[in-house]
Amino acid sequence: MNSPFKQSQMNIGTLGHVDHGKTTLTSAITHTWTDTHSESIKRSMTIKLGYADATIYLCGDAEKPESYTTQPSCEDAKPIRRISMLDAPGHEMLMATAIAGSSIIDGAIFVIAANEPCPMPQTKEHLMIINALGIKQVVVVQTKIDLVGKEKAKQHYAQIKQFLKHTIIEDAPIIPVMANKGINVDVLLKQLSAIPIPERDTTSDPIMYVARSFDVNRPGTPIAELKGGVVGGSILKGKFRVGDEIEIRPGVLSSQKKETYEPIITKIESISSGDQMLDEAIAGGLIAFGTDIDPTYTKADALVGQLVGHVGKLPEVQTKLSLSYVALKRDDLPPQPFRKDEPLLLGIGTGTFVGYVRNAKKNNIEVELKRPACIEEHAKISVLRNFGQRWRLTGYATLA
Ligand code: GDP
Ligand code: MG
Repeated sequence: MNSPFKQSQMNIGTLGHVDHGKTTLTSAITHTWTDTHSESIKRSMTIKLGYADATIYLCGDAEKPESYTTQPSCEDAKPIRRISMLDAPGHEMLMATAIAGSSIIDGAIFVIAANEPCPMPQTKEHLMIINALGIKQVVVVQTKIDLVGKEKAKQHYAQIKQFLKHTIIEDAPIIPVMANKGINVDVLLKQLSAIPIPERDTTSDPIMYVARSFDVNRPGTPIAELKGGVVGGSILKGKFRVGDEIEIRPGVLSSQKKETYEPIITKIESISSGDQMLDEAIAGGLIAFGTDIDPTYTKADALVGQLVGHVGKLPEVQTKLSLSYVALKRDDLPPQPFRKDEPLLLGIGTGTFVGYVRNAKKNNIEVELKRPACIEEHAKISVLRNFGQRWRLTGYATLA
């Protein structure tokens, strides 16, 4: 069914430990299975965020949770909100992707399963992301309550409360659900409908974070019928219109000069949100631009982490970064100063980048990226360091 809202109004992400029910819950909301996990593992760190849209309708009294649905069966269903769900992969290897998703969400569903003690390691790390990135609009969902019985669920609820104490989401609502049976999902929809839609800046030079990119052509399509590359993402600010001349940075590896990137200049031929075509788009849920660029550039998420803007209006592409670093308090990791040439994994916008510490003085670190990045000036960069072969979130940084 076509949504009466042309563009989805906000991105809601899922966070939480692996197997706690994020994808099941996303599916209970959107009626789409978004799992890309096995494929993600095969493709190592360059993974897809699961993505699906849903429109929330009211069938009856707005006070009553049972009135909220994404599959209305009543005749006078009233559409109240359209959301894009971004489903984070839970595997800890994919932490960086969870962070990439977090940089474009307006709110989050934090999934915690009742059949395991709280917090599990990933639950702990995801709370750190919530805190570090300042994601205040969070609904906690206690899943799998059907597996534990009432008493155990109550004890687990108390553990969650304790775990959230003194964090920015200390007072977040905690909703018990049985996602696989769709029980209490209406209560969650009511909560999601209450998240305020952030005020959107529609007048600045526009910037979009690329979260997905693809080649929509089937193998063997004749050249004359080939469609240009599609670039999907979330607009940070400003407005894009069909017909706009745009630039994508850093772009693609130059065929002439080794290891340099050339920006892609193209035109927006179409804008879509789910199945709907738009004339223009602003910040909010995920959208996609149809362009005339060579689809091999956009295939398999190749442009994820890049920025789209009007021609000549994007920040300069950088390889050497000077960063102000803020360490997170982690009692589970030994404190250690940065070493020269230590590798870091940086979450910059929707991209993950490998960099090397070239110099570190107190909270100022000089990092050289392996491949260049185009970085929005106020971006919060998450910093992961390697401990015993695992990337762990240790802090975040901003451009100095
Ligand atoms: P994710 O890794 O967080 O995305 O977890 P999934 O959504 O893939 O769920 C992991 C497993 O838990 C699947 O087998 C689900 O069917 C199951 N599951 C999810 N939610 C519930 C629930 O509320 N109750 C029960 N019994 N099983 C659930
Ligand atoms: Mg999943």
